[in-house]
Amino acid sequence: MSRLDSAIRRLQAQRVCLDWAVAEIAARPGPVLELGLGNGRTYDHLRDRLPGWEIFVFERQVAAHPDCIPEDRYLFEGDIRDSLPSALAPLRGRAVMAHCDIGTGDTALTAVLSAFIGPALAPLLAPGAVVVADQALTIPGCRPVPLPDRVNPGRYHLFRLDEA
Ligand code: SAM
Repeated sequence: MSRLDSAIRRLQAQRVCLDWAVAEIAARPGPVLELGLGNGRTYDHLRDRLPGWEIFVFERQVAAHPDCIPEDRYLFEGDIRDSLPSALAPLRGRAVMAHCDIGTGDTALTAVLSAFIGPALAPLLAPGAVVVADQALTIPGCRPVPLPDRVNPGRYHLFRLDEA
């Protein structure tokens, strides 16, 4: 498979998983978390699918397309290792969905960051919240959810926090 094929499949899987999660939470509005703004593609997709919802974005250094930059009150700028814990006060137990897309070319660094994110993300989630992730996270209290048919195993990851 060429790198182009692989990139296209990854983006297709990402969109299928995001749309699955959006359908899951449609009837239970609440804050949505976007970890990794990048150039803003998936943030823009969530905005489009969830108009009017609160989407809180976590990004080390904003460099997104100018149309895809959240208002300051929805932006946690800085290293996720600092900003996720700082979001506990306003968001503890409230997020109905999180999308984690923090992978970079540095596999070792991404693994270390993923190991941090699982436990740090869990206390922000509402019971029954769904998590869509580019990495195989270990999130206390969450179980993996089977992927939609069109997504190959390992291409993307879905989790759900147990109901209380
Ligand atoms: N979802 C984005 C999109 O669709 O455009 C792509 C996100 S990109 C793959 C990963 C992003 O995670 C980068 O913008 C990077 O700056 C961010 N990131 C990586 N490690 C981070 C960290 N420790 N703290 C905050 N942001 C981080």
